[in-house]
Amino acid sequence: MAKRKKLNLKKNQNIDTIAVHGGIKPDKLTGAVMTPIYATSTYANSSPGVNLGYEYGRSQNPTREVLEDALSKLENGSKAYAFASGLSAQSAVLDLLKPGDHIIAFNDLYGGTFRLLNEVKVKSSGLVVSYIDFNTESISKHITKKTKLIWIETPTNPLLKVTDLKKIANVAKKNKILTVCDNTFATPHNQRPLEFGIDIVNHSTTKYINGHSDVIGGALIVGNNKSLQKKISFIQNSVGAVPSPFDCFLILRGIKTLGIRMKRHNENGLKIARFLKSHGKIKSVIYPGLPSHAQHKIAAKQMNGYGGMISFIHKGSLVEIKSFMKKLKIFTTAESLGGVESLIESPALMTHAYVNSSKVNIPVPENLVRISVGIENIDDLIEDLQTALK
Ligand code: PLP
Repeated sequence: MAKRKKLNLKKNQNIDTIAVHGGIKPDKLTGAVMTPIYATSTYANSSPGVNLGYEYGRSQNPTREVLEDALSKLENGSKAYAFASGLSAQSAVLDLLKPGDHIIAFNDLYGGTFRLLNEVKVKSSGLVVSYIDFNTESISKHITKKTKLIWIETPTNPLLKVTDLKKIANVAKKNKILTVCDNTFATPHNQRPLEFGIDIVNHSTTKYINGHSDVIGGALIVGNNKSLQKKISFIQNSVGAVPSPFDCFLILRGIKTLGIRMKRHNENGLKIARFLKSHGKIKSVIYPGLPSHAQHKIAAKQMNGYGGMISFIHKGSLVEIKSFMKKLKIFTTAESLGGVESLIESPALMTHAYVNSSKVNIPVPENLVRISVGIENIDDLIEDLQTALK
């Protein structure tokens, strides 16, 4: 058997290079440059309990291991864990807690995260959640003896609020509270929360990480904390919400172009945000890259780019907004984000309908529109918006 060649990436290697090579090693048997899809549910034992380190597909899979290694390198972490969806990865974080434990969470989060917290983890696992605005309220005021986790999303979905990761990590460390940051919108290309002292990074790999709108996946990445690694690994295997080898392969394939995709998302995002800001039918534009964004200074400090997510308030009624969306030819009206194609949606009616119906938190405005800017030609995208806004 040929020896596996080690790719020795330097620490602080450029993220574009990590995206192409991170975790990938030529196949042991054939030298295949791309990681094979190990489609197997079980592995042979030469004698009972004696195997090559692989026992059962839920517990170990070589394609998944390579994906996890790549994700860990991208986030400058020590270990990553791949899951079947972003939400199952989030559920694994919450499984670290005990009934009665208290969580402080950002008051603007992906609607599915609110639903997971309020409808599942509060009701079935006995967790207690306080939602606060990290930018205007003091976290310390909300910390009790039972506070075990601080849940951050930055930029948030859908209001694109940005919060100071280092500041929160410092308060959390002082109080021995675990921190998790959903880095789905930013991606490790634009922001690496572990470098600011956050304990766990969460991704819906469904989005920018995979980038082609053809997989549902999730991940957790942690730093050099062996006890936390052990607990997450145990939950990943015990609950079993692992991705298929084929999905791992697709995400690995997507990751290779993360660098150039994100560069284009960042460029197109900024140009479209500026275009919308100058348009008479738009009341306001929320984009962390605009100096008018409430936390632009924080974003400029901790992000390397502002991404392709833009939210804006349309001056018209819901009927007018629906008509505008219908007239678009390149933007597709659809949930999700982070793919190469441009998407548009109404958070109040689609991704965040739960938030408004549950009345558990501040409602999402009806005239808020969220777009995920793709990597198409920028002139075509602006022309599409311009024509539909007429
Ligand atoms: N986090 C964010 C910011 C999201 O936007 C989403 C989905 O839209 C999720 C998590 C959940 O991910 P998934 O749909 O892969 O379960």
